[in-house]
Formats: sequence, structure tokens, C-alpha cells
Amino acid sequence: MNLKEEIKTIEPELIALRRDFHMYPELGFEEFRTQEKIIEYLESLGGMFRIREMAKTGVVADLAGVEPGPVVMLRADIDALPVTEETGLSYQSVNEGKMHACGHDGHIAMMLGAAKILSGYRDRLKGHLKFVFQPNEEGAGAEPMIEEGVMENPRVDCAIGAHIWSPLPAGRVGFGPGPVMALSECFELTVKGRQGHTANPHLAVDPIAVAAGIITATQSIQAREINPLQASAVVFGRINAGSTYNIIPSEVSLAGTIRYLFQVPEGEEEPRDRFERIVKNTCSAFRADYELRFLFRQEMVVSDPELTAKALPGTLETVGGPENVEKVVTMIGEDFSEFGKTVPTLFYFIGSGNPEKGCSYPHHHPRFDIDESSLAVGTEMHVRGALALLDMDE
Ligand SMILES: [Zn+2]
Ligand SMILES: [Zn+2]
Repeated sequence: MNLKEEIKTIEPELIALRRDFHMYPELGFEEFRTQEKIIEYLESLGGMFRIREMAKTGVVADLAGVEPGPVVMLRADIDALPVTEETGLSYQSVNEGKMHACGHDGHIAMMLGAAKILSGYRDRLKGHLKFVFQPNEEGAGAEPMIEEGVMENPRVDCAIGAHIWSPLPAGRVGFGPGPVMALSECFELTVKGRQGHTANPHLAVDPIAVAAGIITATQSIQAREINPLQASAVVFGRINAGSTYNIIPSEVSLAGTIRYLFQVPEGEEEPRDRFERIVKNTCSAFRADYELRFLFRQEMVVSDPELTAKALPGTLETVGGPENVEKVVTMIGEDFSEFGKTVPTLFYFIGSGNPEKGCSYPHHHPRFDIDESSLAVGTEMHVRGALALLDMDE
């Protein structure tokens, strides 16, 4: 039986796994049932893996080969979102207010499928495979795993990550070298004025007017300061101020993200510094004060050119040819980038969109759903990717 046929035989199992995780979604660092199910499944494969719990609700499963070789890590994220599901599926979430609306249920199923198939290679495995099930991707779950030693014992040489992708039709994959997911910085900003009566604005300092100026002025970072051929975006996601129509409030609270998809050239001002310069000078121009806090930063996710080249033949084999491969680049961030700080990474997108099956809603939408044929594709991508990075034939 060749690899494609072998994966075909476990497809019903992949779908059943995904539906089970879908029905019982858990938020970041609360994935206790999910963790238990992952361990249960891996143990059912016959004691092949050294299994460890990590970062509270994460799992690391090692598959040691018989000959020395590279240590390849494969990572799946396992958390759900605080979204109330509206799909009406028979296996819809039973955990109120929680939903696998980003496809991480599928990520777990694909990774378990890959672990099962790859465990069959154990007798001739040259190197070491590390299957990592990471909690809390939507927050920050990679960092605690690194702190608890996921990259060590044995030391990881390279890492594979993937995301199910609804904008991409099922059967296609997003694959290619270079930056694929953006660097993102989350900020909170308080603009401080002086409270007063809206009839006497000259006796107050109106922070709403200042905040409006900041929102407009910071758009010129992309429009006038950064090369138009390079992508960046400053977007405010929250703004709160005031209590009623005739009071100028004392302050405005804002939050948002700064995202970009390029390496800042040596000696050039970073986008966050450009942002703060504009905030500072706008406030000073209008007699206001401010407090700016950068909450956390996710680095870019980059597909290493060498790893990409190694994995390309297997990718073409998986999807049947170059016509089903495209380069996907997104301004969305991913904390898989944490692993990329110390080792080269490979990241790809598994198309899951299919309007005919109702799978056309965006990620994080209450009606988000995936074409489940993507599960077999993702599993095959993982298996072929891992073998390629181990320099092994199928
Ligand atoms: Zn998400
Ligand atoms: Zn996600």
C-alpha cells in the first residue's frame, strides 16, 4: 500500500477525531479533556512514543528512530475560541460560548494521523520526530513550552507548522519560501486630556479630538513612511471614552495592532517607534498626555528556503501537481514564530474552503467550518514533510 492509500484508510478516523475535538472545545490552558484524548490516542498506538505533558495542557510525544539523524519537530495548536457556535452541525460545540472556530480541531486530528502513520516508519527512522501539541495559540502558548524545554532533549533542528485555511479551496495548499505570517505588536494607548463642558471646549483639553488625530496620522506610517511595496497595517480594534453628549471626558482608551511582513533594514526606525513618535508629537501638539503600552509581540512566521525546497516534491505529490500549490501570505500572526527564533521553520496552509459544503465563513466566525477532505491532505503534508526533513524516502 502506498502512502496515499494508507492515509485514505485512516480518513474516517481523522474525521471522527476532528468531530470529537470539535464537540468539546476548550480555551487556552484549559484544554484538559483535549490533552487527555491526545495522550489516550498516542498510547493506543502501542507504546511507541515517549509522552510528556508540558505547559499545563500541552503534550509532547517523541518518536526516536533507530539511526542517528536530524530532530524534526511537528507542531499542532489545540485551543478553541470564546465564540458561540452557530453552524448547526450534528457535532456542534456542547461547551457553551466556546468553539473551534479557527480549525485547531482539525490540526489535532491531522497531527495524530501523522503520528500514527509515521510510527509505522519507526524501524527504519533516521533521526527523531517530536510531535508537539501546543495549548493557547490564540494567546501565547509556545513561549511556556519553550521555557519548559520543548526545544531540548533532544535538541530540535527544525520545526514544521501548518494552519487549515478557509480562504483557500480544499485540495490546495499554501506553500512557498519567505515570510508567510506577519509580525504583530499589540498595544494599549491612553490619551489624557482635561475634562470639561462641551460648551466650553477652550477650557478643556479634548482627548477625543486628539485620539481622532492619532488614528488618522498613524495611517501615514504605511502611506508615507514605509515603502509601498512592503506591507504594514496599523489598525485600532477598540476605542472607549466618555459618558454623555455634553461632557468632554478626561481620557480616551484605545487598543490595536501594528503588523508588518518585512525585515526592518538595519538602522531604520521600527514601525512601533514610528507609531510612538506620531502619538507623542500629536499629543504634544494638542496639549494632551499619553500612556502607551506594548502588550506583546509575535514575530513573523518564515518558511526557510532550504526546508521549503526539500519539502516541495512531497507537497506536489500530496496535491497532485503545481496547479494546486500557491503562495499564501497573511497579515495574521501565529505564535509558531516563537519556535522560529532558534531553528529554521517550515509553515504551510491547508486549504479547507468549499462554498458548496457551507465552508466559506472566515476563521473566528460562529459559522466557520472546514471541508473535512482537508484532514487527509494535512496528514499527508505532515508525513511527507517530516520524511523530507529527515532526508528519508517514503
Ligand atoms: Zn485563530
Ligand atoms: Zn488558528
